[in-house]
Amino acid sequence: MKKYILGQKEGLSCSFIIPQMVCMNSKKKALLVLPLIVIVSIIGYSYYNMSTSNSSPPTLEFPIAEPEKIERLSAYHTPDWGEPGVYHNGIDLITTDNVTIISPTTGTVVGKTEHLNTYGGNMLFTISIEYNWAWHVDLVLEPDFYDDANNSLQTSMIEVEVGQTVETGDEIGILLYNGPSYYSHLHYMLRVQGADVCAYNYSSSAAQTIFENIAEDSDTRILYPYEEPEIATEQNILANPMIIIPSFAGGVYAIIILVVIRRK
Ligand SMILES: [Zn+2]
Repeated sequence: MKKYILGQKEGLSCSFIIPQMVCMNSKKKALLVLPLIVIVSIIGYSYYNMSTSNSSPPTLEFPIAEPEKIERLSAYHTPDWGEPGVYHNGIDLITTDNVTIISPTTGTVVGKTEHLNTYGGNMLFTISIEYNWAWHVDLVLEPDFYDDANNSLQTSMIEVEVGQTVETGDEIGILLYNGPSYYSHLHYMLRVQGADVCAYNYSSSAAQTIFENIAEDSDTRILYPYEEPEIATEQNILANPMIIIPSFAGGVYAIIILVVIRRK
């Protein structure tokens, strides 16, 4: 104990936890602890946000501004979609002209990707909108083009960027039309915690009426029966990067400090 008292006499503060720890200037110590305080604050703030965040489903509006330019539908959960045992994970709205895609919900654009459909060879243009941590809408624009020039044109017609917030009815972009012998369509998807569900079942009554009118006029259907997935009411802490990353950084930092202090 004498050692510690000696340290304090010299105007330095010492650790009572680790006997080997050499006395340090208290200013230096405070500086070392500062990052830990920041990290703990980030974790606390993220946890608070997570525990108070909303996970209720959206009420979707119709995703195309000109429903009269929709010829027919391909139903959600159509069995053997493309290959045996696969179910269609969205509703296809098949168009007869260029149409304006509008956001069916408020939210944040969290994804904007293009990838080649390995079955058909056409390009898919996907806009993902996060309504809340549990619910996402995917608007997959499929003009059914097979050449670079038209695909580039479709790219230039998408007006939103990742990170952008959108209101219901905001323009997302124009889905181009490739003529009557092609399958230009919007593949309309709703996901809860990653699992797909039918967007029609989560639409406003006005939007449902539009779906029903198209289905009736074209003698196509909106969906096949399916089971709603089990939904967790609380977000998994271990799946939140805003908690995992600071925790890891804090742990590593604490170890480094201890090692450095012990060596002195
Ligand atoms: Zn589809």
